Amino acid sequence: MKTVCLDPGHGGSDPGACGPTLRESDQTLDVCLRAREILTPYCNVIMTRTDDEYVGLTARAEFSNRNDADVFISYHFNSADSDSANGFEIFTTPPENNSDKLAAKIWSAHRKQLPAQWDRGLKQANFTVIAKAACPAVLVEGEFIHTPAGEAFITQNKQAMAHAVADGVLAYLGLDTAPVLTLEQRVARLEEHLDL
Ligand SMILES: [Zn+2]
Repeated sequence: MKTVCLDPGHGGSDPGACGPTLRESDQTLDVCLRAREILTPYCNVIMTRTDDEYVGLTARAEFSNRNDADVFISYHFNSADSDSANGFEIFTTPPENNSDKLAAKIWSAHRKQLPAQWDRGLKQANFTVIAKAACPAVLVEGEFIHTPAGEAFITQNKQAMAHAVADGVLAYLGLDTAPVLTLEQRVARLEEHLDL
């Protein structure tokens, strides 16, 4: 079974970027918990944090490496001086490798989920958290959080953002065509197993 490591950016003493009412750390955790929910029937999902706690950048990558993750997704929301800054973007570290293939899958899933959102594209940067991950690793900036409009967009579209991560990961891992049992089928199986 494939292992997916979800990394909700920031947490604890580090709230990340703050909007008028929202903190980046809370929103990244929310999106990752939603993505975990969607991914759980298909793969083993681990998270660098599941609470509002501080985890260092290197510790996040080491957690992923220690658990032999197949993909690593760090989720963030952006901030800028300009109030007009908006849109999503996805980062990998140079040089080009399988991380770029993973990024492309998440990018196209995100475009499909949120076609009206401004697309800032695929970019490269030496972010520590993805640079130190041993497996294909990307960092998603889901939207800018520093404006009321950005906050509203995030609040309304967290489920779509989570789906974009999940769909992109499944496409990259080749699991998107595997049959998935419905909840009813899973319950029936369990009942049969328990002889109910
Ligand atoms: Zn961040």
